[in-house]
Amino acid sequence: MLKITCPWCGDRAQIEFTYRGDGALTRPALDNENAKDHFEYVYLRDPRRGVQDEIWRHSAGCGQFLKVRRDTLTHKIYATSAPQDDLAQDDLDQQGDAQ
Ligand SMILES: [Zn+2]
Repeated sequence: MLKITCPWCGDRAQIEFTYRGDGALTRPALDNENAKDHFEYVYLRDPRRGVQDEIWRHSAGCGQFLKVRRDTLTHKIYATSAPQDDLAQDDLDQQGDAQ
């Protein structure tokens, strides 16, 4: 069973969480009037293979959103954090074997 570490609740089963989207996107500024930038932010995704940052929600737990660094090929989870925090590159090395 896949486990995800909620920053507020600790280790929980993946079934308690829901995937909410790409965690690496940057929302265009509100005063950016270029419709193409907003269209790309909302609709276009680059499917990636390998490690990426994602936004998940602990929907059957505390309800908080969190950032998850996950390998899309192996489903290995390297690190989690609050969504506003940056996952450091060394999280790949330190927590890669913890899951
Ligand atoms: Zn939680």
